[in-house]
Amino acid sequence: MATVKNTYILGIETSCDDTGLAIVSNGEIVAFEKSSQGIHQNTNGVVPQIAAQEHLREINSLFQSCLDGAGIEIEEISAIGVTSGPGLIGSLAVGASWALGLSQNLNLPIYGINHLEGHVFTLFFSDEKPKKFPVLVLLASGGHTMLLDWSYPKAFKRIFNTRDDSAGEALDKVATMLNLGFPGGPEIERHAEQAKDELSYRFTVPMRNKTGFSFSGLKTEARKKIREHDELNLADFCASFQKAAFDHLLDQSEKQLSLKQYHGIAIVGGVSANQKLRKQFQSLAQDHSLCFFAPPLKLSTDNGAMPAIVAEKMLNGEIETSFLTGVYSRFKSKK
Ligand code: AMP
Ligand code: MG
Repeated sequence: MATVKNTYILGIETSCDDTGLAIVSNGEIVAFEKSSQGIHQNTNGVVPQIAAQEHLREINSLFQSCLDGAGIEIEEISAIGVTSGPGLIGSLAVGASWALGLSQNLNLPIYGINHLEGHVFTLFFSDEKPKKFPVLVLLASGGHTMLLDWSYPKAFKRIFNTRDDSAGEALDKVATMLNLGFPGGPEIERHAEQAKDELSYRFTVPMRNKTGFSFSGLKTEARKKIREHDELNLADFCASFQKAAFDHLLDQSEKQLSLKQYHGIAIVGGVSANQKLRKQFQSLAQDHSLCFFAPPLKLSTDNGAMPAIVAEKMLNGEIETSFLTGVYSRFKSKK
């Protein structure tokens, strides 16, 4: 019997401020390296030119660590998946041009991977993998907040996007107002866990009678409350703000569940690392007798396993192929 050769897919993710590289083999992560750019804490937000320079500084050594971690030689790589957009053009260009150089040297196929698809495909690494579709997916990250209708192996369809800020951006900006540092989501979560009363600061949940996401009003309300209160109870404030933001995500997702029959509900993207949000969506799923999916914690935020798993499915002919042709900053839907 002929032996089946293992394939090793290198994934490269540089769309924002995380340099993520990983190697995936037969649906498993065999190497995972990531460097998050702490330098942006000085500016409480990502400076694009600096982000691009930092990717360039990190990428070679992360690649070497990946080869060591997987225990393979460079010639054993079978294909490359590199995030081509949406994201910061300079950052994407660093990852894509570096990947292109490698692919030409080794004569490897190179796929241009949609960053959002990468987030969705992290669900293939969860303990319980989605098998029945459609699945309603909430993607909530630093750059995006949207609801997606996912019928694998077809590409997901975007139901709606945020009208203004993303959920992660709102958490980050409010954390900055509170001098909690950047990125702020994990800090708000940490303080919220100490809260005694998550209703003590009354925030209005956005868009209660409308459909869509919007976080800018909530952010303005936070700014006003911070100005009004001389002595803020930090834990209660973080919990109250977080509750309103998450109630909004839940509200809109539940509305969509009433419009269409789904087999499951999932959350992906950096904000899905939040334990409270995970619990809330788990019970939403239970209430509707649906399966609940979320990626392993370390795969919620941007990482190299995202483009690697999408590329592996392209290489295996499971989904439509998209070879790298360039990078783009804004969301492009497939036909
Ligand atoms: P991403 O763009 O997918 O890498 O996600 C980054 C975003 O996720 C940032 O806005 C973070 O503040 C947010 N984030 C990361 N961890 C958490 C957490 N535990 N709770 C809430 N937000 C988080
Ligand atoms: Mg992301």
